[in-house]
Amino acid sequence: LPVIRAQSSPDYVPDSKFYKVEAILRPWRVSQVSSALLKIGIRGVTVSDVRGFGAQGGSTERHGGSEFTEDNFVAKVKMEIVVSKDQVEAVVDKIIEAARTGEIGDGKIFVVPVSDVIRIRTGERGERAEKMTGGWSDQSSAAA
Ligand code: ATP
Ligand code: GLN
Repeated sequence: LPVIRAQSSPDYVPDSKFYKVEAILRPWRVSQVSSALLKIGIRGVTVSDVRGFGAQGGSTERHGGSEFTEDNFVAKVKMEIVVSKDQVEAVVDKIIEAARTGEIGDGKIFVVPVSDVIRIRTGERGERAEKMTGGWSDQSSAAA
């Protein structure tokens, strides 16, 4: 498959310190995606089992049995990852690299601004709440 590159100077609207990268994925690609994200220091990820339709659900091609539920919605996994702005493109890149087959039904990624992050245990907000111990920012400051 040809490589798909990240945007070099992203200009997300509206501007925010944090974004939620929300990816709708083929269930059998999820473990590849999560291990790719772990490798770059992403520690906070939420996944849910969802069902949906897009081009794949609406077409009659390759309805390979098991991906379909009774009512024709396709079983997918939604992965939500809140990261700082400077991490968005790398996360998007990794997801594409690990999730893409080139076939209809590979999924979609939504980038959504996040107004604030609050860690319930401590009451921390913003950067302090979003930062994960041993995660990306710790790894890159150790390398520097
Ligand atoms: P604590 O130090 O209090 O444990 P934490 O930041 O490690 O705080 P958890 O309480 O472990 O957060 O997180 C609970 C759940 O929140 C995780 O299982 C995950 O589903 C979700 N989560 C945490 N951080 C993120 C994030 N950055 N993006 C998406 N989901 C997250
Ligand atoms: N931005 C966080 C950090 O650098 C990582 C966020 C996440 O793991 N989702 O520690």
